[in-house]
Amino acid sequence: MIIRSAPALIAVAALTAFALTTFAQPPKEWGIHDMNRPQPKVIEPGTASTPDQPGKPPSDATVLFDGKDLSRWRADKDGGPAGWKVENGYMEVVKGTGGIHTEQGFGDVQLHIEWRTPAPPHGEGQERGNSGVFLMGLYEVQVLDSHGNQTYPDGQASALYGQFPPLVNATRAAGEWQTYNIIFHAPRFGADGALQRPARATVILNGVLVQDDQELTGPTAHKARPPYKAHAAKLPLGLQDHGDPVRFRNVWVRELGEGR
Ligand code: MG
Repeated sequence: MIIRSAPALIAVAALTAFALTTFAQPPKEWGIHDMNRPQPKVIEPGTASTPDQPGKPPSDATVLFDGKDLSRWRADKDGGPAGWKVENGYMEVVKGTGGIHTEQGFGDVQLHIEWRTPAPPHGEGQERGNSGVFLMGLYEVQVLDSHGNQTYPDGQASALYGQFPPLVNATRAAGEWQTYNIIFHAPRFGADGALQRPARATVILNGVLVQDDQELTGPTAHKARPPYKAHAAKLPLGLQDHGDPVRFRNVWVRELGEGR
């Protein structure tokens, strides 16, 4: 770009100065290494799971399922008690009882959930160990037996269903416990209902990054990509009954504040 006039030059200089002061400076509130800056809250980080034993959640987590009961969950179809089976420290989809959702609503979260598809495997494609983790009841991280099981890439395990395949297929064999750690940022809507910021999801499957701060195009759906529609800042977390006896254990969530 060739700048020919003095006013234009001044304008560019002013814009540059504005940009530098606005974007290039560290936050003004605290100086570097300021010992008066508030210390982060101390929490107990919990423990990792083993194949036989779920780990312990961090001390500041909201535990949604600790292997004992579904008291924090409701049936999608009538809001009554969740009809899934609970035994041996896990919950299991009971075909036909429908999806379940948390009583409590959540927005921005770190979610930990472990899942296990049936062994020996049964069925092919989408009919093999299908379930799903629905952030805000609208945005599905697919659960599927994707170990040696071909399906459309944006529908395999850890896909943002119908939108984005995982970066790699890091699934374990059917019958093994697998772990999702999901960082989800809810979409933001203006007072007029217009989308201000899309939802974003980071998914780590079995310790492997498979969705990297991915922006969603809207709610997930089968053979459709519906646009965003304004909704509440917090909505229940859902799990899908797709007819397969998929198991879940060690479900906990940490609510994230704005700006983290
Ligand atoms: Mg599903």
